[in-house]
Amino acid sequence: MATGDLLRNEVRAGTELGRRAKVYMDRGELVPDAVMLELFRRRLEQPDCERGVLLDGFPRTVAQARELDRMLVGLGRRMDHVVFLRVPESVLVRRLAGRLTCPSCGRTYHVELAPPKVNAVCDVDGTALVQREDDRPETARRRITVYLEQTLPVLEHYREQGVVSDVDGTGSIEEVQVRILAAIEAGCAAGDQR
Ligand SMILES: [Zn+2]
Repeated sequence: MATGDLLRNEVRAGTELGRRAKVYMDRGELVPDAVMLELFRRRLEQPDCERGVLLDGFPRTVAQARELDRMLVGLGRRMDHVVFLRVPESVLVRRLAGRLTCPSCGRTYHVELAPPKVNAVCDVDGTALVQREDDRPETARRRITVYLEQTLPVLEHYREQGVVSDVDGTGSIEEVQVRILAAIEAGCAAGDQR
């Protein structure tokens, strides 16, 4: 589950938690860890999450990772596997800079890598696609700096647990997908022996 989608769904559903999150989002602030974790906990308890869950975009800090670990233990679960996609900074900036987002459904496209069927229009609902502020080259560089400072230490946190696979993230979406699936299968096989 992508963190952003989870948040947007909750806000759209108008739940109490969604309303709490929206206050921060409207101010352009980060949603507090406690709210995010509560969102995950509720989502994890739904039947379609019984066999497993893929988290995307969370945790982004060591503090969040520790809280998440605690919460998973409480639910009798654990982080089985972490995939680290290794991509040079120049490639990252190019990818982010080409990203287009549908303001209506949140689906993302890429001008070169995953273009919409009709130029600059969402395949699902026909809404005109936009470049998010987050994806402009200057903002992209700043996000990379924040990532190196705050999120890279999360990798060390999980390396200590022996659950990280390093995957080459360069190349086409299909190429990277094949590598990710192979890494997860290898990791699950290793995890079963732990
Ligand atoms: Zn759309």
